[in-house]
Amino acid sequence: MIQAIVIGGGAVGLAIANALLNRGVQVRLVNAPRGETCASWGNAGHIAIEQVVPLASASTILSTPRRLLSPRGGLSLPIASIGAWAPFSWKLMQAAMPERYAAGKKALTALLSEAGPAWERLAQSLGKPQLLRREGHFITWSTAKAAAAGRAHWLSTEVGTASIRDAAADELSRLRSLAPQIAGAVRCVGSGQISDPDELRKAMEMRLLADGRLISAGAVAVESEPGGVRLDNGQVIQSDIIIVAAGIGSRALLEGLGLCVPMIAERGYHIQYEPEGWPAGTPPVVFEDYAMIATRFDSLVRVAGFVEFSRADLPADPKKWQRLTRNVKDLGLPLTRRISAWMGSRPTLPDYLPAIGRSRRASNLFYAFGHQHLGLTLAPLTGELMAAVVMGETPAIHLEPFDLERFER
Ligand SMILES: Cc1cc2nc3c(=O)[nH]c(=O)nc-3n(C[C@H](O)[C@H](O)[C@H](O)COP(=O)(O)OP(=O)(O)OC[C@H]3O[C@@H](n4cnc5c(N)ncnc54)[C@H](O)[C@@H]3O)c2cc1C
Repeated sequence: MIQAIVIGGGAVGLAIANALLNRGVQVRLVNAPRGETCASWGNAGHIAIEQVVPLASASTILSTPRRLLSPRGGLSLPIASIGAWAPFSWKLMQAAMPERYAAGKKALTALLSEAGPAWERLAQSLGKPQLLRREGHFITWSTAKAAAAGRAHWLSTEVGTASIRDAAADELSRLRSLAPQIAGAVRCVGSGQISDPDELRKAMEMRLLADGRLISAGAVAVESEPGGVRLDNGQVIQSDIIIVAAGIGSRALLEGLGLCVPMIAERGYHIQYEPEGWPAGTPPVVFEDYAMIATRFDSLVRVAGFVEFSRADLPADPKKWQRLTRNVKDLGLPLTRRISAWMGSRPTLPDYLPAIGRSRRASNLFYAFGHQHLGLTLAPLTGELMAAVVMGETPAIHLEPFDLERFER
């Protein structure tokens, strides 16, 4: 029987662990007990199968000044982190060149076309189909001008297996009961959301807890020959194979083995509120000109936003929470009773494609990280793909575009 150590207990690591357990692999999962900043449980909960256009694009670059300078733009390049974002930006510009952009879009489209079905399979196999809702989401604008431009964009852009239509009159009036100044909206069909992130984490951890396979410790080094993981408690654990799926933490582990990992922390922020006047079952609502999304989970509403290119270990910027609070107020959202505030890091590679595969440096070393804004959406599929690679099968999706060594060419 194959023995595997998965490093990382976010959505990606847990999806891989569950997929390997389904294949009869003996799994141990090492997760650093600093889960509070783990992106997987603080994100917007949106199953974003429509986001097939990679963010390493000419339009992202051209929109940078507006998103940076407008108070509602949501983009932040802190000067203290210039050493992180300057080299990243240079690589992003290279990845946005027409040929690489087209290849990236093709690769992302292939992944996202299978992401929804993989989610259905995972929710079923966890015995919790209710964790997944496939009722789409709304994209809204607060001025007629922004609505006209936004609508034209979304009706003409590629959205993979999803589709976009105008919001119906009754949908618009429901949205205006939440945010009176909404001037226009479209509905995305085919996307979805997670109903409860805490329940999801518990369900994904269940099989590991039952057999004591969850090791609460940080990995400080990976040793590929023979396969071992050095933990921060001094212990070294060994296994046939090692899978690095530690989100932003994957960079330090793989760079320790001499691999090139030009990943940045794209930090995002959220505030959670009592749901008050936000009806259960409302699909996620994107306030596009506020660069913000609000998701109604089972027991709360989470508003999330910001793209702050930085280092994961720097303290959060409280101004971001102040801005989210002001957005909620300016939009007139029925959210007054705040529960908590959070910041976490999207693990992002310069071409906005994840790294999924087997290292060519060491045959017992595998990796899955760098899922940027789409890690929740892509976690179940990544688990299935990784299980296929580990079992020596041909994965359902061609993994060459996700080879980490693309950054060494
Ligand atoms: C504000 C915000 C909103 C977002 N919204 C969405 C969304 O709506 N839909 C979507 O699909 N995606 C969204 N994302 C992106 C998504 O959350 C991430 O892509 C995804 O969570 C990455 O998952 P992961 O498992 O790779 O990493 P993480 O969730 O960061 O998990 C990594 C885990 O590894 C552990 N770890 C790290 N280093 C080590 C180490 N050395 N040893 C042991 N353990 C280690 C960490 O403690 C953590 O538990 C959002 C992100 C943010 C910040």
